[in-house]
Amino acid sequence: MTTTVTVHRLSNLLPSLPVPSDATGALFLLPNSLRFSTSYHPGRSRRSPLLGLQKRTLTRVSAAGWFSGFGAKKSKGAALPEIVKAGDPVLHEPADEVPSREIGSEKIQKIIDDMVSAMRKAPGVGLAAPQIGVPLKIIVLEDTKEYISYAPKNEIEAQDRHPFDLLVIVNPKLKKKSNKTAFFFEGCLSVDGFRAVVERYLEVEVSGLDRNGHPIKIDAIGWQARILQHECDHLDGTLYVDKMVPRTFRTVENLGLPLAMGCPPLDSFKEALVSAVVWNSNFRFFLGTT
Ligand SMILES: [Zn+2]
Repeated sequence: MTTTVTVHRLSNLLPSLPVPSDATGALFLLPNSLRFSTSYHPGRSRRSPLLGLQKRTLTRVSAAGWFSGFGAKKSKGAALPEIVKAGDPVLHEPADEVPSREIGSEKIQKIIDDMVSAMRKAPGVGLAAPQIGVPLKIIVLEDTKEYISYAPKNEIEAQDRHPFDLLVIVNPKLKKKSNKTAFFFEGCLSVDGFRAVVERYLEVEVSGLDRNGHPIKIDAIGWQARILQHECDHLDGTLYVDKMVPRTFRTVENLGLPLAMGCPPLDSFKEALVSAVVWNSNFRFFLGTT
């Protein structure tokens, strides 16, 4: 009886949860026309070392989805993972390094392939392995002329955004190359339907290994530098909401609304933010079809 009463009271106290729009989950704002629905879930499982991936506690749903690629018999048509959402421990804990001898293995190569496919399917411009439930230090990113074509020209310039080919980086290490920063709204496939302003360095250097295990180094500026910082944060168990400018968090539907009084009154902040808001207001037009 006591339990029943408690549950009843709790349910009365629960606020209405916002319903994320399926049209707004892409990292860095891609239009709805590029999005597709996903149909399976990675499940909720604790992180485990590389060689223990098969030992994860699999839910029935996850076993039928992406994890079926790990040793279990793969069911026809269930090839891609769904993006893990905020709250799953795998997104809030540091990922493990990939032993270099493992990079060429079938498992790691499949993880990379799945990440690339999941990123493109979402679609997004970057993805970290924890976002498909894999607690390993692997990121993928790419930005295309097509994606960029959906953004207003002034915003592309403000963000210093340029297309780049697919990058796969294993065990990335990121260093800032200057103290210059910029404030822009960003989003995350794991925090679907929301955005917030995040301060990021404008120039970074990322070194690591490519998918063949060869050393690589990327000097990135502008939007690519932001994507790299966002993805490397994932590998530290950090989501953008952990470092966003307070009180800028909002639904995609509210992107065009004014910021709260008291947000940092820095000139660079205001310029960047005004630009971002204008951009996002325009983007809402694209989203208006949903
Ligand atoms: Zn993300």
